[in-house]
Parts: sequence; structure tokens; C-alpha cells
Amino acid sequence: MKHRNLIQLLDNKPNYERLEIIIQELDKLGIGYSNQKYSSGTNLIVDLGNAEKRIGISSHFDKVQTSAGANDNGSAIAVCLDIIKKHKNLGNDDLGLRVFFFDEEENGLQGSTAYVKEHGTNDLIGLINMELVGLGDKFALWPVTERANSHLLSSFESTSKQKQIISKRFDQIVTNTADHLPFQKAGLQDSFTITCISDKDIQVAQKYFEALELEEDKHVLFEILSSAPIFQHYHKPSDTFDKLNEETMQMTTEVIWECLLLANNHTTK
Ligand SMILES: [Zn+2]
Repeated sequence: MKHRNLIQLLDNKPNYERLEIIIQELDKLGIGYSNQKYSSGTNLIVDLGNAEKRIGISSHFDKVQTSAGANDNGSAIAVCLDIIKKHKNLGNDDLGLRVFFFDEEENGLQGSTAYVKEHGTNDLIGLINMELVGLGDKFALWPVTERANSHLLSSFESTSKQKQIISKRFDQIVTNTADHLPFQKAGLQDSFTITCISDKDIQVAQKYFEALELEEDKHVLFEILSSAPIFQHYHKPSDTFDKLNEETMQMTTEVIWECLLLANNHTTK
């Protein structure tokens, strides 16, 4: 199934139905999963391979009520499911992955926070989280400083370079809030979020940071941000599957997948 077809199924569904749809997809693939229930929600977790330490890949399945939830974050769900499929087809148990579908990201990162609280991060090598990976032809990696140098991060960057896809580090995006955060706070340094962006988004980001330096007021900053293509449908009813680019999600799946193979190679040897 194409990424967009799956996202079409998810569009506008309440969060519990989105979770059910993901479970149905896993059932079709014959892939086992576990539910982590916590006080206000449920995370879905898929372990693949037989490694002692795993690489984490994550998306959140909840959406804000006002949005159809396609780019935020149906796109990341579709990529996660595709990674699971690739792992199944590979049939190699040496590659240990933990794929997360977090609940309540939009409600203050409650799902990922509950996970880290209960399970910690000791059995993880790192975490690649995804937010809005359905539009654009470049990667934004955040929050990643110029000096950062860690295993998963460099595997991702060298894979994307090899495929001639630009990946750009941002030490802060607008809020820096996403599901990587509880993991980072718990000491898992090699954790970051990927967002797909376009040239226009990069131009807008430059303008935004210039305006920040000049201490422009909130209204001006908001106007600038609103002109970025990535924010055109953000948290709006118009964030639907038909706006998304199949190629963008394919690109994301392929780069992450090859990054995982590369990172795993270096870890086990
Ligand atoms: Zn999101």
C-alpha cells in the first residue's frame, strides 16, 4: 500500500480509531506488538529483531482535534509501517528495532513521557523521531547543534549525503518540542527529530531567525512562519492526504532504512 493510501484511511479519524487502523496493518503483516497503557492513553510498541539494544524509530498517532492529521503525523505513521515491512522482508534478526507509535504527543508529549518513565532508555541505542515527513525534498534534523556528533545522527547524514539529499541541522526550530524530548532528557543523547522541508521553508526559517534576533514582536514572527509551505495546513482541517507527496515519504523511508543498516553494521562490528 502506498503511504498516501494509508494516510487516507487515517484522515479525520478519532485517535482511538487511528490506533486501531495501525493495529490492523500490523495484523495483516503478522507482526506482534505490545500496548503500553498509562493513565490517560495508550502507546503502541513493535519490537523487531533479537538485539540486546535497539534503535528506536518513532511517530505519534494522535492528532489535534481541528486537524485531519495527514502530515502531522500520518506521514510518520506510514513511514514507520513501511520500515516494519522492510524489516520483515529482510528477515535479519541482527537488526534490532523498536518502533513506537506514541499517544498524546499533541497533549504535552504524554505518551513518550509515560514510556520513558516506565521503561527508561537503557536498552536503546538512539532514537529517530519523525514529525511532518510528507512534504518537501530535504531533511531538517532538530534539535541538532553544529558540533553534534553521534552515531545514529552521522549514519543518517552520511546516508542522505550519499543519496544526494540535503539534510540541514537546526539547533532550534520553532518550539523544539517533539517526542525525542523525554528521551533526551533521560540521557539518550543520540535522539533527534526529522522533518521534511523545501527550499521555501529554509528561506522562511532564515527570515524567522533574523526577525528573532531583531526581537520583532510575536505577530510579525507569526506572519513570517505562516508563509512557510510546511505550516500552510499545520493543525488545520486541510491537513489531508491529498496534499502530501508520495516521493517525500518514499525518500524518508529509504534514507532511514539505509541509515539503520549502516548504523547497525557499525554497532555490531
Ligand atoms: Zn506532530
